[in-house]
Amino acid sequence: MSDLNTQHLAFKQQLFDHKLLFGSGVNGIVGRSSKIVELVAALHGMVDKESVKDGAQKVAFPPVVPRELLRTVGYMNNFPQLSGSIHSFSGDDRQHLALQETVKNGEDWSPHLSQTDVTLTPASCYPLYPTLAGNLPEGGALFDLNCYCFRHEPSNDPARLMSFEIRENVRAGSPEEVQKWRHSWLDRGHNLLESLGLSVVLDTASDPFFGRGGRMMKASQKELELKFELLVDIWGKDNPTACASFNYHQDHFSHLFGIHLADGADAHTACLGFGIDRLVIALLKTHGFDMNAWPASVREKLAL
Ligand code: ATP
Ligand code: ZN
Ligand code: MG
Repeated sequence: MSDLNTQHLAFKQQLFDHKLLFGSGVNGIVGRSSKIVELVAALHGMVDKESVKDGAQKVAFPPVVPRELLRTVGYMNNFPQLSGSIHSFSGDDRQHLALQETVKNGEDWSPHLSQTDVTLTPASCYPLYPTLAGNLPEGGALFDLNCYCFRHEPSNDPARLMSFEIRENVRAGSPEEVQKWRHSWLDRGHNLLESLGLSVVLDTASDPFFGRGGRMMKASQKELELKFELLVDIWGKDNPTACASFNYHQDHFSHLFGIHLADGADAHTACLGFGIDRLVIALLKTHGFDMNAWPASVREKLAL
């Protein structure tokens, strides 16, 4: 077993032993204690202050999206390995008996199910883009949203969950407006995480596009600097963890959903996402399990 894996397992066990998080028996699915609920609220409060300054509009979507949305954005081409498709039972009494038999025998029950019209939400920002179809107001628009997201990446790492919150801000506007906004957030995000006493570096990154075809997508995303991440040292300097991401989509979503500027030109979009559950783990790992004993500056920043 690797050192890193041993660290992951040991720290996760400590989180459970301290009753900060509740294990479910499945990797990547945890419950939050009241202390963590409070910490999560504090992290959202910190992001609130920033996005309110920018005049972001709050919007909210549920943790499921129409299946057609994933088709439109090409999710099954790019990230099928992460998808969370929802299936349900729509058979008759006879088929129900067969289903129950399969369940009782501990076997895979999926052959008895059929696909529904929905999937789990893979990123908080996806359901927003279809709502922006048409012309944006002068100066574009800025949104603030949060959602539980699903990604099928079970792991022993308590900072890599299958169901987790991504707090996002999404900017839509002219290429200059969108680039300026994203650029300003690189420093701002860095300062924000440093003010929490975390050890942070900024780097370019790429998304885990699937397979051989995906390799080129990853390379070009990096080369064009379309994705930056704030990497936090949770498990040692050689294994940094992305706790926030800043993505520039250019006109990708605008083309797919018909999002235009006030003058009719194609809009550009960018989003930033804070991994709320990762920040929780980073803070606990850095400052210890007793939140009352955290550095005063950190407690103040979080208004704890
Ligand atoms: P990674 O490279 O670590 O898989 P990512 O590039 O997939 O991260 P994004 O798709 O940009 O991450 O998601 C936005 C943010 O959500 C990330 O910066 C991270 O903080 C958080 N995040 C991503 N995947 C997970 C996960 N499995 N568990 C918890 N938080 C996550
Ligand atoms: Zn996004
Ligand atoms: Mg990932």
